This record gives sequence, C-alpha cells and structure tokens, in this order.
Amino acid sequence: MISIGLDIGSVAAKGVMLAGDRSFKVVLPTGWSPRDAGHNIIEHLLDVSGIRRSEINAIVVTGYGRVALDEADKAVTEISCHARGIAEFYPEVRTIIDIGGQDSKVIRINEKGKVVDFAMNDKCAAGTGRFLQVMANTLGMDVSELSVAEIVEEKVTINSMCTVFAESEIVSLMARGVSKGGIIAGIHESVARRVAAMAKRVGIKEKVAFTGGVALNAGIRRALGRELGCDIIIPDVCQFTGALGAALLGFES
Ligand code: ADP
Repeated sequence: MISIGLDIGSVAAKGVMLAGDRSFKVVLPTGWSPRDAGHNIIEHLLDVSGIRRSEINAIVVTGYGRVALDEADKAVTEISCHARGIAEFYPEVRTIIDIGGQDSKVIRINEKGKVVDFAMNDKCAAGTGRFLQVMANTLGMDVSELSVAEIVEEKVTINSMCTVFAESEIVSLMARGVSKGGIIAGIHESVARRVAAMAKRVGIKEKVAFTGGVALNAGIRRALGRELGCDIIIPDVCQFTGALGAALLGFES
C-alpha cells in the first residue's frame, strides 16, 4: 500500500508519502491557495518518489486548508493526525503540544494513542507561530534566526498579551537600547508561558511531545521546558507530524 498524508496549514503545506520501507516528505509555503498548495505537494511527492499517481492507494488531508482539496479521499482533523503520528513512533507520550502558524493545541492521548482531551487557542495570534513571525519581522530577522540570537541572561519581560501591542513594546525596547537577544528571550518566554498555561488547564501527563513548525525553534523548546518543568520529546520531523499521521490513517481507512 502507498499512502499520502497532507497537512495544509496556514503558513506551510506539508506532505508525507509512505511506500513500503520508503518515505518521502515535502514542505512548501501554503500561499494564497490551499487547493494549489495541496496539488503541488502531491505532484512533488510523485516526482521525488518516481511513483505513479495510479499506484497511490489513499490520500488523506488535514490542516486548515483540508476542505479545499478535492483530490483527497478523506479529510481528518489535525488533532487526530497529530495523535496518530506521535503514537506510531512515541507510544510513551501522553501529552502533545502542537504550535503551528495560526493556532496552538494541547492534546492528551491514552496508551492506545486515542485522544482523551484537548484544548486549542485559535482566537488570538499570541502563543502561535504567527506571533513569532511578526516579532521576527519587527526585529528585522527571519523566524528561523530567532533561537540562535537569543540571550537568556539578558531576558526582558514582554508585558503585552496582544500581538499588535507586543510589536510596539518591542519597538520601544529597541529604542531604549535593550539587546535584541534579550528581547528574543522575552518573546520566547511569552509564547511558552501562554502555551504552558493552556497545557496546565488540560493537565500535563508525561511524557510530553512538542510538534508543529514552532518546535523547530530551539529557544521555544527551552522556554517551554522551563515553564512545564519536564523533559520534552521533539520528533525529528516535528513539522511533519500531522502529515505523517494523515498518511498512517490512509492505511486504516
Ligand atoms: P501551519 O500548519 O499553521 O502552517 P506549521 O506547523 O507549519 O504551521 O508552523 C509554522 C510556524 O513554524 C511558523 O509560523 C514559524 O513560526 C515556525 N517555523 C517554521 N520554520 C521554522 C524554522 N526553520 N525555524 C524556526 N521556526 C520555524
């Protein structure tokens, strides 16, 4: 069986193809059309794998753009896909923290990988990858550069909860000569604190895994570890967890 899982997010479209003992993955910016992004991911996967479209048994789609893709056999929630992806490789995990471009989620799973509870913040950009992108932009950096430039010893507290106010707070901190590294440490702490508060409301049960594109940010990983006070598992393919789960669910439908 050959299965494709797609996770069409607000920022990035991810695809995973599982074909026997071979696997392929592709990430592209979602851009303005989730439908085109999904289509392009499928084409890329076929290209890199050399597998023909007629050989694909299942295409399962998740993510905010999942409704737009008519090429898929099935659409599944991101919560189910993250749970499935983690349960496959980290069966010891009971709490998943997923921070993506436009929302953050805390998912509790049992020993069978079944979702038992979850919480989600999709109302406000603070505590999401979007917040980090806006802050990186204000600092004149790319979001991928934040973690290396962070200086925890010079951390300042970012008081504003709202993205727009936090942006002006950062502009005034820079004008006062506060170091960029210290501001970045404050930004990371602010995201981690919000997400940790949501996790504590759901109830944290170890082991904890961190998924989504924001898990690529080592500064957030460290800050989240400090806020939760426990070790956090980061899957090698953290940004692809949803797509991987979708591909695995393709074998089961
Ligand atoms: P979505 O599914 O909503 O598109 P993702 O889970 O793909 O979101 O995560 C996107 C977020 O991941 C971005 O907003 C950004 O903050 C973060 N991100 C993406 N690539 C990197 C990187 N190389 N380093 C650090 N952070 C990253």
